[in-house]
Amino acid sequence: MAAGTLRVLPLGGLGEIGKNMTVLEYEGHLLVVDAGLRFPAAEMVGIDLVLPDFSYLRGRVDDIEGIVITHGHEDHLGALPWILRELRADGELPPVFGAPLPMAMARSKLDEHRIKDVEIEDVKPGEVLELGPFDVELIHMTHSIPDSTGVAVTTDRGTVFITGDYKFDQTPVDGRPADVARLAKLGADGLLLLCGDSTNADRPGFSPSESGIGPHLEQAFLNARGRIIVTCFASNIHRVQQVVHAADKLGRKVALVGRSMRKNVNIGRSLGHIDVPDGMLLQPREIEQFPDEKVVVICTGSQGEPLSALRRMAFHDHPQVELHSGDTVVFSATPVPGNERAVAETIDRLYHIGCRVLTARDAPIHASGHGYEEELKLMLNLTRPRYVMPFHGDFKRIELHGKLAEAVGIPEENVFKGQNGLPLELDERGARFGAPERAGMVFVDGVEIGDVADVALRDRRMLSADGIFVVVATVNEQDGSSVAEPEVIFRGVPFPDEAEELLDDLRGTVESTIARAAKDGIHEADVLQGMLHDDLAALVYQRLKRRPMVLPVVVEV
Ligand SMILES: [Zn+2]
Ligand SMILES: [Zn+2]
Repeated sequence: MAAGTLRVLPLGGLGEIGKNMTVLEYEGHLLVVDAGLRFPAAEMVGIDLVLPDFSYLRGRVDDIEGIVITHGHEDHLGALPWILRELRADGELPPVFGAPLPMAMARSKLDEHRIKDVEIEDVKPGEVLELGPFDVELIHMTHSIPDSTGVAVTTDRGTVFITGDYKFDQTPVDGRPADVARLAKLGADGLLLLCGDSTNADRPGFSPSESGIGPHLEQAFLNARGRIIVTCFASNIHRVQQVVHAADKLGRKVALVGRSMRKNVNIGRSLGHIDVPDGMLLQPREIEQFPDEKVVVICTGSQGEPLSALRRMAFHDHPQVELHSGDTVVFSATPVPGNERAVAETIDRLYHIGCRVLTARDAPIHASGHGYEEELKLMLNLTRPRYVMPFHGDFKRIELHGKLAEAVGIPEENVFKGQNGLPLELDERGARFGAPERAGMVFVDGVEIGDVADVALRDRRMLSADGIFVVVATVNEQDGSSVAEPEVIFRGVPFPDEAEELLDDLRGTVESTIARAAKDGIHEADVLQGMLHDDLAALVYQRLKRRPMVLPVVVEV
């Protein structure tokens, strides 16, 4: 890369929803913005988390001037402990910067991972950090978690603004709207590149304000007879605040249920983002001692997550809360794409118990944290960038965001629709995509991190869908002849009535395959295993029309 070139390399978040991470590079120095994760898709059986592939940073830890986090959501912050843990072997870990709430959440995460050798610094919007060749400034934005910021990074080449997740909420719950004056100043001073949130580039108009949700929650609460259970994102502290206000008006007490709900509200209270009147909070174990009509439970599980509080309540499996017929369950969130089925299942269980269920389809009790089309245009018009690279969205939304940029007058050739691993290079001659770098997914499987090879995922898929046959053949080491009846073991195979017959045929196939191999002088166990696999898999498919995993084991005696 030529001297004086600024490079903007997205490692995650483009062409997908989740695991946002970007590397800025100038004169051999690196600045990382966000370190997010993604939750696995349904077919990634046995995978717990998905991280961006951060190979680009390997061996370059000493070049990293800092890691800046835009806000406290998992898709921007969640990969931080995993990535730091891996990079630690390569050198001294860089400092982490961000607004106070995301930094409090980062500290709590690193504590849980027992990572102590990292400097975590609170930064106020408007302060300028000098990190090597990068001047870094956070700009206050509104979103569905307090203390959300965009990041303006200035080098000799010019200023790049990464918006982070944002909406232009004119009446936010905490009374702190986005710093539009600072955004306009970026535009007036000449912005080189805007990297903007594309999440709602497909929704016309303006997003509704968060503070409009409160009155609808109150209305819903007025109509409730028994207990009220509200589920929302644990990080949506302003939503929790509005639920607390509504409960207070009706003289109900509030219990927080679910580990992340309690943790986030505690952090939010300690930083003054949420105000709960004294004596209003109930401990979860006290819930059963209060009359139903005096209680509001705020809990995790709005996405149908398997171990979440609401999911466990819906399956009569929660240690402290037993749902009653006549309770009202309020979903103050919409399912993230991919979670619809789990949410629908949870809702159905709630009906089975006799609960009333209220979702965002029934009443305006949820507002997105991401701006709609007109807000994206407003951002473009305020900052007047020379170049635009849409961030944070699948390819469709990146495309639509690009169209919005053109609609407000950015020339088409100045809009760069990128993808993970494709660096945008900016120099005195202009901007263009450079050669692609490695980018993709890194899986976390339990507590292990690493490349789970595709083959492992394919195996897990086969096991989960069609089960497994294990066939043990015992052959004579000298002449390769079969010396014992083959054993067939199966697990998880949906079996027809004629199972015995199929097992007999499988054993017969083993015998004939072994005989054929012996005749051809094939003695190597792995070659024989391959032959057995092909013959057995063909038979099983012919009979069951399914492809369970077939695992032949050859024992030589
Ligand atoms: Zn967010
Ligand atoms: Zn996000």
